[in-house]
Amino acid sequence: MKYDVVIIGGGAAGMFLAAALPANIKVALLESNDRVGKKLLATGNGKCNLTNLDMNIAHYNRPGYIEEFLDKFDAHDTVATFEKMGLITKAVDKRVYPYSECASTVLDVLRRAVDKAGTDVLTSHYVNFVENFNDTFNVQGIIKCEGKPNESFTISCDTVVLATGSPATFGKDSTSLFTAFGHKVREMRPSLAPIKTNKEPLKGLSGVRVKAGVRIGYRYEVGEVLFKDFGVSGIAVFNLSSELARDRAKIGDILTIDFMPEYSRAEVEDILRKRGANLTVGELMLGTFHTKVQERIIATANCDPNEPAQTKIGALANAIKNYKLEIEGLGDVSLAQVMSGGLDPREFDENLMSTRAKNAYAIGEALDIDGDCGGYNLQWAWTSAMTVARSIMRNV
Ligand SMILES: Cc1cc2nc3c(=O)[nH]c(=O)nc-3n(C[C@H](O)[C@H](O)[C@H](O)COP(=O)(O)OP(=O)(O)OC[C@H]3O[C@@H](n4cnc5c(N)ncnc54)[C@H](O)[C@@H]3O)c2cc1C
Repeated sequence: MKYDVVIIGGGAAGMFLAAALPANIKVALLESNDRVGKKLLATGNGKCNLTNLDMNIAHYNRPGYIEEFLDKFDAHDTVATFEKMGLITKAVDKRVYPYSECASTVLDVLRRAVDKAGTDVLTSHYVNFVENFNDTFNVQGIIKCEGKPNESFTISCDTVVLATGSPATFGKDSTSLFTAFGHKVREMRPSLAPIKTNKEPLKGLSGVRVKAGVRIGYRYEVGEVLFKDFGVSGIAVFNLSSELARDRAKIGDILTIDFMPEYSRAEVEDILRKRGANLTVGELMLGTFHTKVQERIIATANCDPNEPAQTKIGALANAIKNYKLEIEGLGDVSLAQVMSGGLDPREFDENLMSTRAKNAYAIGEALDIDGDCGGYNLQWAWTSAMTVARSIMRNV
């Protein structure tokens, strides 16, 4: 069996690429799962935040690198392409979602577009080897169907595209398929993930959700923080977790939570003082935060709830503005949204073609590109896929 193009991985990037290629190009999309687009269904809490109208390159790990790609296919192009496929979208604070707020609607239109493009979608096809022989790629693997013995397959093609994503939450790291061509891979580590911390400051807080400021080193985010028994989670924490994945922070560093991010330290003291200096510490804190947060602030400020608050206002304001947790590591891969690491993008040209093997491309999360929460990772999947689609169409 010979194809013009074989795409390995039927996720966001692989499907978008297949949908963009015209029917006169014979394409096979190989997916190890028994269905395509499984991870897409889990995105954005089931709503799929497919891009972001604020395309500031600072949201990515390699801003300078990604800029030239986004210049050619950005968030507006993504929205236009999906609307052309039939998807109605809406923006909420610059984040773009399907109007239905159902990730399955995005998958529905993508599947239809892939079908219309005439792609052969081969599910339950797990690829375990790719070789390049006389300008032809042989893609080999196993067909795994429940209740049937495994069968091996070999498919030949002129162009091969690695779109295998990452193991974040679920999935696989299949970047080793390209190391045979001489590519280097940076180990994949959870990037948008919870952070494990020391247990003392978490006492009694597990399950509590707050809107707070979070700081690691120079990076600061305001957003949702969710306390867990092993550390902290939530969007603000997820975005800062990339500091660890990118080696800009390390185990033992301090993560600081600011429970009143709208106010300066002096303003917080002022607010507490105005509440009444004749109160006890417990009375002063009553009605401020979630009960468990109040208790932790009082304990961290070394106060007794029954003692007079007058001389404790500075210590309480400090605990409110600088609640410290010591970083013990990144949360589990199964809790991560994205992985940092993968194939070194510098070994791919401006069309994302390998500089080691002609007509071999890589797209999506298989490359060492990752972004913040908010639609930036899917945007990279769409942008990289369209870059490769245009290159393939030019070469046919
Ligand atoms: C819970 C969750 C929520 C998320 N929410 C958002 C969000 O709202 N917005 C956003 O921008 N990003 C979000 N992301 C990130 C986003 O989903 C990924 O960055 C994106 O899916 C990457 O696309 P991809 O095509 O590179 O990889 P994937 O979508 O993971 O697709 C890769 C495919 O390749 C297949 N595969 C792997 N190895 C092989 C092999 N050897 N042979 C055959 N097939 C193989 C896999 O089974 C998979 O289907 C979220 C991720 C998670 C886990």
